[in-house]
Amino acid sequence: MIELEGLTKRYGEKVAVNNLSFTVRPGIVTGFLGPNGAGKSTTMRMILGLDHPTAGDVRIDGKHYQQLKDPLTYIGALLEAKAWHGGRTAYNHLLCLAHSNGIPRSRVRDVLETVGLTAVARKKTKGFSMGMGQRLGIAAALLGDPRILMFDEPVNGLDPEGIHWIRTLMKSLAAQGRTVFVSSHLMSEMALTAEHLVVIGQGRLLADTSMADFIDRNSRSYVRVRSPQRERLLDVLHQAGVVAVESGDGVLEVDGGKAEQIGELAARHRITLHELSPQQASLEEAFMQLTAESVEYHAHSETSPASPEPARQQGGDGWKRG
Ligand code: ADP
Ligand code: MG
Repeated sequence: MIELEGLTKRYGEKVAVNNLSFTVRPGIVTGFLGPNGAGKSTTMRMILGLDHPTAGDVRIDGKHYQQLKDPLTYIGALLEAKAWHGGRTAYNHLLCLAHSNGIPRSRVRDVLETVGLTAVARKKTKGFSMGMGQRLGIAAALLGDPRILMFDEPVNGLDPEGIHWIRTLMKSLAAQGRTVFVSSHLMSEMALTAEHLVVIGQGRLLADTSMADFIDRNSRSYVRVRSPQRERLLDVLHQAGVVAVESGDGVLEVDGGKAEQIGELAARHRITLHELSPQQASLEEAFMQLTAESVEYHAHSETSPASPEPARQQGGDGWKRG
């Protein structure tokens, strides 16, 4: 279990992490989602004691990282992808880590096997691709057989087969009862992996919710309808008390409606339909909306920060916006 309480990190004027409180629980994959610059890596570094909080507190199974004896046996972490300059082999890199953390050397072979690096174990890491580097980082995280695992954007640099592999790995680690905390800036990635979701923007907590709840709340379902007799159809729908909105290109979107109901209504009034298709709004859209106000650099103005929004609270139902 990882517990954050009012965790805050300031770099000069910049508040990178702003009063974060949440708990990461065992047995499930918890996704840590936020746009670039939201404060995910800074939060993870504070969990590992690599950065000092300006305020607040973070504990691992009730202790600060520094209080853990042989910390790699409690919590294993893959931090942001980095280039490997090492003159050491993958095997020796892991062996050194094992030695200094009271981990039996047999684990080195085990984890190399788990991450699929056995064949290159005796090769120097400086020649490793980003994907191989990620795998070696994951091997190091698994080395101490820890109950808690933390991965910072682990799919970066992995090919599709590698991405599939890491998703499966994270789920199986959680299924073994471990705490798995994984960050990403991609909702699509989290939707496939995480059972619980913590969303941050500009260092602030925006949502702490189960994935199922997030999907329930945010996946608007509607029916797309096209007809050459659009005006007539609008009238008929209106009379039946069905709300339809025009979304351009002659398309009508019927919120919360059932395709069957609309089709039968149209048939009864001899209206031709060219399309009648149930739709789901994407989770990516929901995530973009949730974080829109907190995105630090918008795509269209990559170099200039958005003007700071005054802080405000929006109450109720577990959602926080700032
Ligand atoms: P994320 O991992 O979500 O992309 P980071 O935690 O890396 O976000 O960064 C959060 C914010 O803190 C960013 O605005 C970043 O520029 C800033 N930041 C991170 N590390 C430092 C540092 N060492 N000094 C100054 N600012 C930093
Ligand atoms: Mg990061």
